Amino acid sequence: MNKLDRVMVNITWKCNLGNCSYCWHHVSSGSLHVADGSVRVAPDLNVEQWLEIFHKMDPAIIDFVGGEPFVYDDFIALCEKLPNKHTYALTTNLMSDRIEEFTTKIKPDNWIIINGSYHKNSGLSVEEFAKIILKFQGAGFPVAVNIINHVSYENMLNDWEKFLKSKGLKVFISPYEDPFSLQSRRTPATLVCKAGITHYVINNNGDVHRCLSWFRYLIGLSKKEDGKICIYDKRGYMGNLLKETFAKVKREKSCELYCDLKYLISPENSLISDVNIREKSLWGWIKRPIVKRKK
Ligand code: SF4
Repeated sequence: MNKLDRVMVNITWKCNLGNCSYCWHHVSSGSLHVADGSVRVAPDLNVEQWLEIFHKMDPAIIDFVGGEPFVYDDFIALCEKLPNKHTYALTTNLMSDRIEEFTTKIKPDNWIIINGSYHKNSGLSVEEFAKIILKFQGAGFPVAVNIINHVSYENMLNDWEKFLKSKGLKVFISPYEDPFSLQSRRTPATLVCKAGITHYVINNNGDVHRCLSWFRYLIGLSKKEDGKICIYDKRGYMGNLLKETFAKVKREKSCELYCDLKYLISPENSLISDVNIREKSLWGWIKRPIVKRKK
């Protein structure tokens, strides 16, 4: 069987917290703040539009993120109708009064993980948080907890981790990185991966980008309609799945961005474990044809 694509779906940019100091995706005045600027936020697609998209996609592990997926108005109605050809995952802050309804109505069969992100500013104690994530587990969903290793959590992180583990929960501590200076602090390296081929990101309006890093950084050269070169690469844009303009990238491309998946997200994360990011070897450069100077 072919390996499944890995697809991150930013189903909505709206969030019911919106005040995490380490958040990559603050929205204000209709714009989403990314590493080097802002992007206008389009309205969310409706359930029928998402179903049309999911039916036409190659089989994938679809990871619902955002924003907060439970803030998407019809999230449960959508989950009830998801096609069986995909496998699903969810990253949520658990701040929703619709969790009971989700665990009652949705069958866990096609779900590989419910990832609870703990944010202290949610007002939930870690004990309250554990009770909620264990409700998913009790309903048959595999679960895990993710916490950002932010300086404001310094004195509490160990105790939280210990407590959550004592409840039998898997805990991932993600390193904190300042979203606005990563690109300037990245390890200088040319990377190669299958972004756009076997993994990609879909935004709330059906737009597809190679990966989150490409979406977040306005970098590169491209031609405008008038033929002039400008510094704008459309953020690794691959078309829109609803408008039939989406096409997968045909072959691996070099990449010099700060890579979330390589440098930030835990390699133990099953969603990215076989994304296969490599540094372009020196050998690749040595093999380039050597042009002899004319005498
Ligand atoms: S190496 Fe990382 S940043 Fe670059 S395209 Fe691949 S996933 Fe994206």
